[in-house]
Amino acid sequence: MNLEQFRQEAHGLVDWMVAYLSTIERRPVRSPATPGSIAAQLPAAAPEGPEPFEAIFRDFERIVMPGMTHWQHPRFFAYFPANSSPPSVLAEMLTATLAAQCMLWQTSPAASEMEGRVLDWLRQMLGLDAGLAGVIQDSASSATLCAVLVARERATGWQANEAGLGACPPLAVYTSDQAHSSVEKAVRIAGLGRSALRLVPSDERFAMRADALAGMIEADLRAGVKPACVVATLGATGTGGIDPLAAIGRLCRAHDIYLHVDAAWAGSALLLPETRWMIDGIEQADSFVTNPHKWLRTNFDCSVHYVRRPDELVRTLSVMPAYLTGPGTGQAVDYRDWGIPLGRRFRALKLWFVIRSYGISGLQAMLRDHIAWTRELAAWIEATPGFELVSPPVLGLLSFRCRPSGLDAEGLDALNRRLVERINDDGRIYLTQNIVRGRFALRFSIGQATTERRHVEEGWAVVRELAEQVVRTRNV
Ligand SMILES: *Cc1c(COP(=O)(O)O)cnc(C)c1O
Repeated sequence: MNLEQFRQEAHGLVDWMVAYLSTIERRPVRSPATPGSIAAQLPAAAPEGPEPFEAIFRDFERIVMPGMTHWQHPRFFAYFPANSSPPSVLAEMLTATLAAQCMLWQTSPAASEMEGRVLDWLRQMLGLDAGLAGVIQDSASSATLCAVLVARERATGWQANEAGLGACPPLAVYTSDQAHSSVEKAVRIAGLGRSALRLVPSDERFAMRADALAGMIEADLRAGVKPACVVATLGATGTGGIDPLAAIGRLCRAHDIYLHVDAAWAGSALLLPETRWMIDGIEQADSFVTNPHKWLRTNFDCSVHYVRRPDELVRTLSVMPAYLTGPGTGQAVDYRDWGIPLGRRFRALKLWFVIRSYGISGLQAMLRDHIAWTRELAAWIEATPGFELVSPPVLGLLSFRCRPSGLDAEGLDALNRRLVERINDDGRIYLTQNIVRGRFALRFSIGQATTERRHVEEGWAVVRELAEQVVRTRNV
């Protein structure tokens, strides 16, 4: 493809993008594809010679599009949102065109310096203290892995990297029973073994019980196990649980334990001063992660990872003697040893486009709407006979179930399982499920950037309509 053809095709694609986004509501949210149906339409081997773009694009529409789930659909209420926005897409077009590897300052000074600046903007926007320096990771999972690795090194006097874990005392990592699976994955990858992971019980609001954490730390100390790390969650994936940071932080300081805060989803809400109670005690945390690619209009991937001691992160991950000694606030740095991969995309650009395009106030308005509509939805659920909340509204998340009379626990689980399948096959909305304290529940997550109040109303109407059908036919 020469540049003239590129110009033509690119203009055509922009028209396609606008048509797609402006009519997305007419599509079923979740792809109706069955397993293997897309692969069956793709040739088993690559073409010998070049094919015209026209043919490739025809197959994109014919084969690929029916196999897509539409995450930017305004009635996408599943998982957590994966936000995007026109300015973010425009920045991604530039990033792809520049196609730079931004691992060192000198491999693209602008990428490095903008990352530092934009992450300091975001730090202030989120109400995080000035002792934290930021870096963009591909995902919250990577940030949490980095945290567990630094904690491991700190707890072993930097010996695990040198001599291997065989030469070190057994370590323990604590997180709530509501925490994301990425914590267990990090513990396993770090070589600590899943048996090093302690799941701390949560209370009736799904928040980690600090008294239970204290008990588990004491028990480990008595048994000769070294407490290395606590991963606190702000906004647990299933239930929205918000761990008590101040109490957890005090325990961590008392026992010299590394404290990482996983706010992958809920962290964006810190843009709102009224939610900042969540980070009461953040000065005690060693690191913090949140994903603008979830709830801040920024395309995947963009996970922001703040650390109090960049020198420790670099010392853990660098394969050369540490050459980064301070947080270097406001200065350019080489980010190559702030994460697992060496190569880095220019991801700060889209965050810069997004923050400037919407301003703090525009982003706050979106978050406030989503939170208000989630509270409204909770009120509708509570006011509807035959339904109940299973976990209360937290920011943009709640879970609920259909509860007609005359069914035992197993019957209710089976009915709600059928309901979520019925809803997602229907296609007007998309919800996912969870097991909360042994009960099958439907999660309703409001956070898509284009969702309006009417979409939430429509979503609730679809749930009621299909629940009625499922209840009516349950004995058929
Ligand atoms: C989504 C989520 C993660 C994982 O995020 P990735 O960026 O996909 O790794 C981790 N923790 C919590 C609380 C989450 O909600």
